[in-house]
Amino acid sequence: MPSYTLGRPPRRRAGWVVLLVVLVAGVLVVFGALRLGPAPAVVIESERPAVGAATKVVARFSEPVGGLGVVRLELVQGDRTVTLAERQFPRAGAFSPVRGRFTPSVELAATVGRSAQEWLKEGEVVVRATADRMTGPLRSRASVVVEKKLAVRLRPPHFELLSKQHYVRQGGSGVAVIRVGATAVRSGVRAGTVESVSFPLSGGGPGERFVLFAVPWELDDPNQIRLFAEDDAGNRSEQPFVDLFKPSPPRNDRLELFDAFLAKVVPAIASQTSGFDASGSLLDQYLRINGEIRRETLAKVVQVAADTKPEFLWRGPFAQMPNTQRRAGFAEKRTYVYQGKPVDHQTHLGLDLASTEHAAVPAANAGRVVFAGWLTIYGNAVMIDHGYGLMSLYGHMSSVAVNAGDVVAKGQILGNSGSTGLAGGDHLHLEIFVQGKSVSPIEWLDEHWIRDNIASKVKLP
Ligand SMILES: [Zn+2]
Repeated sequence: MPSYTLGRPPRRRAGWVVLLVVLVAGVLVVFGALRLGPAPAVVIESERPAVGAATKVVARFSEPVGGLGVVRLELVQGDRTVTLAERQFPRAGAFSPVRGRFTPSVELAATVGRSAQEWLKEGEVVVRATADRMTGPLRSRASVVVEKKLAVRLRPPHFELLSKQHYVRQGGSGVAVIRVGATAVRSGVRAGTVESVSFPLSGGGPGERFVLFAVPWELDDPNQIRLFAEDDAGNRSEQPFVDLFKPSPPRNDRLELFDAFLAKVVPAIASQTSGFDASGSLLDQYLRINGEIRRETLAKVVQVAADTKPEFLWRGPFAQMPNTQRRAGFAEKRTYVYQGKPVDHQTHLGLDLASTEHAAVPAANAGRVVFAGWLTIYGNAVMIDHGYGLMSLYGHMSSVAVNAGDVVAKGQILGNSGSTGLAGGDHLHLEIFVQGKSVSPIEWLDEHWIRDNIASKVKLP
C-alpha cells in the first residue's frame, strides 16, 4: 500500500475546498435571503360581478421585499387580447447590498365594458394581471399570472308593470307592482335622485315584486318618476309610469329666532352632542345645529331606515295623536329670521301636533321600534318600522317608554310629548319616511287614500 506516501495527504486540501464551498454557500444563502424574497402577490377586484357598459377593475400588485419589475393588466375575449394598462419599474438599487429605491406595491385600474371596448360580445371575458419581480443577481422574474372571469351582459333586464292607475302627489307616496326578468338584481322606482327599491311580492309569481315609493317634495316633473331594473353588470332599463301627477309645491314660512329660544335649545343640544363646536355666539351655534347637525341626523335616519321588515306590519289608516291641533305642516320652506335679517333656510318635513303639556303619545300604527332615544334636532325620539321601508318618527318627546326592538300595537303609548331638541314649545313632531325619504303624513292618515292607492294594487293583510 504505497500510494499514501505520495505528496501531502489530500484530506487537508479537501478540507479547504469544503470550507470555501460552505463559506460561499453561506454568503449566497444570506445574500439570497436578502435579495430573493417572495414572488409578487396579485389580486384582481371588480366593481361588479359582471361586465356591461362600464365595470371598473383594479389589479393590486405587491412584492415588499425586492420590489416589482413589470406589471400588466390585460383583457381577453376569444382570440383577442388587449393591454389595458402596463407599468415597468427601473432597476434602481438592484445591485445594492442594502436595498435602495424600489416599488413594493402598485395598482393598475381600467374600465371594462362596451363604453371602453366596443368589440365585446355577450358571454365571458377574462381579466388577466401579470407581475414580474425586479430582476437582479440571483433574482429571477418569478412571473405571476392571475385571471378573473367575468360574465358579459349587454341587454338590460326585462320588466313589466302589473299595477294600474298610478296617481301620485308631489311629496307623497305610491305603490307599484312589477314583474322583473331573471337577470334583474335590483329594481324599484327612481324619482329624481331618490330610489325606492322593490321587495318580493308576498304570494306573487316568479319575478313579481312590490315597491312602496317616495315622491320627493322637491320634485315637480312626473317624467322623472320611473320604474327601473338593473342587472349585476349595471345594465339598466327605465320607464315612466305615473298616470296622474298632482303638484304640491312647498309652502313658504317665516320663523323668528328669539334669544330666549336660542338660550333654551342650543346648550341642551350642544351638551348632548359629542365633539360639538361650541365656539361663536348662540346664533352661530344654532346655525351649526340647524345645518350640519340636521344633515348628520337625517343621515342617521336613513341608516336606521335600512332596518325594515319585508312585510306589512301596519293595519288600517295611521292615527293622528288624539286631541291635537295641526300646527306646522309637511314641506314648509322656512326662512329663519334673527333681528330682522334672514339667517338660514330649511324645510320642515313633518306634522307638528300640539296638545296639552306632556300628553301621552300613541303609536300611529303597529310596527317594530327601530330607534328610541336622543336624536339631536328631534330631541328624544322614537322611530317605528311598519315594514317595506315605511317608518314613522315621533320627535321632541319629554320621555320615552319603549326600547328598540319592541313590537308595538297601534295606539300603544310610546312616551310623552315635550319640547326637546329644536322645539320652541311642547308638541309632537310626526314624520313619515319611505326608505329614509320624508313623505307627507297626511296621505297615511287618510283611509280613502290608502284604499285607492295601496289596497287597490296589493293585497293588504
Ligand atoms: Zn316639527
